[in-house]
Amino acid sequence: MIKAKNITKSFGSLQVLKGIDLEIPQGKLYSIVGPSGAGKTTLLQILGTLSLPDTGSVQIKDRQVFSLSERQLAAFRNQEIGFVFQFHYLLPEFNALENVCIPAFIAKKSKKEAEEKAKELLSFLGLGHRLTHKPAELSGGERQRVAVARALINDPAVIMADEPSGNLDTKNREDLHDLFFRLRDRFNQTLVIVTHDENFARQSDKIIRMKDGRIEE
Ligand code: ADP
Repeated sequence: MIKAKNITKSFGSLQVLKGIDLEIPQGKLYSIVGPSGAGKTTLLQILGTLSLPDTGSVQIKDRQVFSLSERQLAAFRNQEIGFVFQFHYLLPEFNALENVCIPAFIAKKSKKEAEEKAKELLSFLGLGHRLTHKPAELSGGERQRVAVARALINDPAVIMADEPSGNLDTKNREDLHDLFFRLRDRFNQTLVIVTHDENFARQSDKIIRMKDGRIEE
C-alpha cells in the first residue's frame, strides 16, 4: 500500500531523516517508535504527503505522490489519507456529525451520502447518541473517536496517526487502541501509528524502531 524509498530530510544543517526505505502492506498496522527527536513525526508527515522530502519517493496505492501537481496532491490526500493527531483539531462550532462530514464535502460528495456514511461510522465507534454534540460537549475519548470517524469518512487507503492516544487516560487509550485493531481486522484498514506506547506497539504487525534519522530495527 505504501512504498517509501531513500527518504531524506534536513532542517537547515540538521539532517533529520538519513535515508529511509519502507514498505507497508495493505491491512497491516505498523507502529513507529523511537526516542524524541528521532524523526518519527517528520517521517509520518512525509508519508502522509504533508511535507516534502529532500530526496526520495513515496508511492501510495500505485501513485507516486510527489509527482502529482499541488492540486492533485491535495485531492489525493483528502481522499486517501486519514489523519489522527494527538490533539483532535475538531472545529468547535460544528457538531460531531458535521465535523466528520467535512472531508466528504471537500471530496464533493452529496450531503445525503456524507451524512449517511458519517452516521454509520459514528455508530460503529459507539457515538451514535452524540451526533449533534459539539466538541466541547464531548469527553476527550469521544472527541478522539470523532476525529477517527472524520479520518475514515472517505474510505482512505491509510490511516496515519501521530501519538493519537498521547492525550488520553488509560481507559480511553486502551479503547482507542482496540478501535485501531478493529479497523484493521474488520475493514482490512492499513494504519501507520507513531506511538510511545511500547505495549501497543508490541501488538502491532510490525514495529519500525527509529533512531537518529534512521530505521534502527
Ligand atoms: P520525533 O517525532 O521522533 O520526536 P521529529 O520528527 O518531530 O522527531 O523531529 C526530529 C528533529 O527535527 C528534531 O530535532 C526536531 O527539533 C527537528 N524538526 C522537526 N520539525 C522541524 C521544523 N519544521 N523545523 C526545524 N526543525 C524541525
